[in-house]
Amino acid sequence: MKPLILIVEDESALVTMLRYNLERDGYRIVEARDGEEALMVVREERPDLVLLDWMLPLMSGLEVCRQLRRRTETRDVPIIILTARGEELDKVRGLDAGADDYITKPFSQRLLVERIRSLLRRERAAKDEAGESAEQPLVRGDLMLDPGRHLCTWCNRPVNLTVTEFLILKALAMRPGHVKNRDQLMDAAYGEHIYVGDRTVDSHIKRLRKKFKAIDDSFSHIETLYGVGYRYRDA
Ligand code: CA
Repeated sequence: MKPLILIVEDESALVTMLRYNLERDGYRIVEARDGEEALMVVREERPDLVLLDWMLPLMSGLEVCRQLRRRTETRDVPIIILTARGEELDKVRGLDAGADDYITKPFSQRLLVERIRSLLRRERAAKDEAGESAEQPLVRGDLMLDPGRHLCTWCNRPVNLTVTEFLILKALAMRPGHVKNRDQLMDAAYGEHIYVGDRTVDSHIKRLRKKFKAIDDSFSHIETLYGVGYRYRDA
């Protein structure tokens, strides 16, 4: 079955253009004009990916993103935020809200499809793993990562991670004490040949730490090595 993409955008001309191009590239499309509608649509349909405009009437794209992440059925759905603003700060805010990727308008169809393919490929790989349970759970002290079930626990308590956060943490925890630079972490999370800025990794790491600290205030196992990268400390 062709992957289903939910487009959340209030600008009719852009929706028409996106629908036309994405259908031509082999995707099925469902539309929502604002956040409320988007949250209704995801109950009926199960989109494989969400293209979410930042500037929406009533509820901002960021708020929609947060709400999608709070719901079990859309917790893991890849979300790409579209925005006319090009500022790095906004990008970080978008990723803080739980988006997987971020594209600044105007963008080329080729770039958009590349990003969509990359995220869907990653999802498929995660699902295949779940089906075959090829990968064994990774246990590092109080941390347990089970890629097959996309499950992360700390001291036996679940930590809800997005796919991107999960993959970054897995890359770090695979080799405790070993430093990974931002490029290596991005390759682990997004696959190679996708360029995302340095701040993106920092933002994901910040969110990861926050989620663990919410469960265990003393959590300090993800270490920053300034100018080098990050590492996972085992004990
Ligand atoms: Ca808009």
